[in-house]
Amino acid sequence: MNTDKLSIIPKITLLGAGPGDPDLLTLKGVKALQTADVVLYDALIDETLLDFAPSAAIKIYVGKRSGEHAFEQDAINRLMVDYALNYGHVVRLKGGDPFVFGRGYEELDFADSYSVPVTVIPGISSSIGVPGLQQIPVTHRGMSESFWVITGTTSGGQLSADIAQAATSNATVVILMGLKKLPEIVELFKAAGKADLPAAVVQNGSSANEKLIVGTVKNIVEQAQKEQVQAPALLIFGEVVSLHPSFKSLIKPYASIA
Ligand code: SAH
Repeated sequence: MNTDKLSIIPKITLLGAGPGDPDLLTLKGVKALQTADVVLYDALIDETLLDFAPSAAIKIYVGKRSGEHAFEQDAINRLMVDYALNYGHVVRLKGGDPFVFGRGYEELDFADSYSVPVTVIPGISSSIGVPGLQQIPVTHRGMSESFWVITGTTSGGQLSADIAQAATSNATVVILMGLKKLPEIVELFKAAGKADLPAAVVQNGSSANEKLIVGTVKNIVEQAQKEQVQAPALLIFGEVVSLHPSFKSLIKPYASIA
């Protein structure tokens, strides 16, 4: 840790921690933590990752849990820059990838306005990593030529208009922050004639309390309610969901009738 103010070289590393399992942090991320003077970390971060930072480093939780705003974004931005100027290397540890619905660019921009240099270390985004861990590929030759990652809740709190558009496409649609709006989202897919489209909900992907629900647009709401799925969870809509082994076993009875 820098104690001599004159020797302090302020810098910030925006670090993506991956979807939850601490082993999914990159090697470059570990190296950044090892040289941290301060770590500012979010909710959804496995706290064992903090052990990579020197024991003398300052570690501050700045997350938001269960809708409770522990810190507003402005306060996080200011803390980050203040600590960089006073202590040196601030590692801003964020869930998934910093730039996938992570407000990472706002932090980069704020640091930039104080001329504090920022390095970005990407993380495994839950949007790709969580389906992948379930062996659900977001693209698959002959089945899905693209994937959309959409927020279920825009900054205004509404459902993103992109979802209705995506529902009419053949893309795999991954929705983050959409669990509460699952019934509304499902209606959009039904309206697009996709009632039988395979769908999945994954709660706490890559973590000990991971839960996977598979079904179709028609029954996914009921399944998710039955299994009492909770946040953080993401939604996957698309033919690719049918590649998951449990989905295959689900549709077997129908397949045998044919
Ligand atoms: N930057 C993050 C996403 C932040 S938005 C990333 O790249 O992964 C937070 C949302 O991501 C959650 O509401 C949830 O929809 C999703 N999410 C994050 N981690 C998850 C996990 N382990 N399992 C399922 N969904 C997850």
